[in-house]
Amino acid sequence: MNGYGSAAPNGNGDAGITIPAGVTNQPRVLVRSLNRDEVVFHLSGVDMAYANSLRRTMMADVPTICIDQVAFMQNTCPIPDEMLAHRLGLIPLISRGAGKGLRYTRDCDCDEGCYYCMVTLRLKVSAANLARGNFMAITSDMLEIIPSPNTPQQNPYGPPPEIGDEERDITANRDPDLGQPVGKGDPTATPVQIARLGVGQEIEVICKAYKGISKHHAKWQPVSAIGFEYDPYNKLRHTDYWFETDAEAEWPLSSNHVFETAPESTEPFDYNAVPGTYYYDVESVGSIPVTSVFEQACDIMIDNLAQIIQSVQEETGADAEEDEADMVEPHINGGDGYEYGGYGGGDQWGGGGGGGGGWGTGMSPLRR
Ligand SMILES: [Zn+2]
Repeated sequence: MNGYGSAAPNGNGDAGITIPAGVTNQPRVLVRSLNRDEVVFHLSGVDMAYANSLRRTMMADVPTICIDQVAFMQNTCPIPDEMLAHRLGLIPLISRGAGKGLRYTRDCDCDEGCYYCMVTLRLKVSAANLARGNFMAITSDMLEIIPSPNTPQQNPYGPPPEIGDEERDITANRDPDLGQPVGKGDPTATPVQIARLGVGQEIEVICKAYKGISKHHAKWQPVSAIGFEYDPYNKLRHTDYWFETDAEAEWPLSSNHVFETAPESTEPFDYNAVPGTYYYDVESVGSIPVTSVFEQACDIMIDNLAQIIQSVQEETGADAEEDEADMVEPHINGGDGYEYGGYGGGDQWGGGGGGGGGWGTGMSPLRR
């Protein structure tokens, strides 16, 4: 494969891995490596806008929880309150299931945060008994969860609290570790250092952690970085390298070049070529497993695209049932490929769903 839309499907890279690529009406994913915190994968069969949307959705739209408000009872350490609050906000907290296990506080009826929209943490540390000349490291492991207002079953002897169906759903989907600092209780993980206390200094704070997305503040980002690349040989000439004397020597190829075919020096430039394979390297901060970040991002993209389609249909008065009848599901031929019905030609697929094929080619986000 060479990353071009006009390439034959199922080409072989020099690395000996068969990668699905080329003209297709279904996105395809090849996972190269996966662990709890990092996934390296290839995405092919989509256009660039789609691939970049997936990257941006993983970074900016997947909800996590973070400390957003801090009440200071006591702070006699050298770090001022504002800086300490900022550092607390950046500590990653376990956010598995935050999508369904917690409300956005703006959607909640409570006044100042409750069990259904907030996790409350306390940091109470004192270096009163420290030997002179020593320092005490204050880390994220010392944050402890305390009950938020309206926590169900606060009184084990009383009747169960009266809660609605929505609240019952939230309670059922709640991860027991939701809001715990990432790595707490794991001897192999290094905790985040917040401050250092000298003799007699102390900190006592109550922190309110809310659900949010990183479109509002980067602290809610579930990933630390996403490596994103296409066309490692720059055959499409989307990049113009700046160089001193020799561009090839000064810009070494990325590791992804082994999955594509090197261009011939005599090869004429193909003006119709479009990128076909995108290389991702997603690193989680630990608040959500990286596979869940990917899955949630796909679901969020489906919802967002469905809203756009619905808005367009409402605006234009298009009949949704008519569109439904025009849809063509992709046919799988015994596992050896897809039929590419609905496409005008090899070079046309890069136009995406908005091109000649439209949603009729089976790419509708409304139909998974
Ligand atoms: Zn609430």
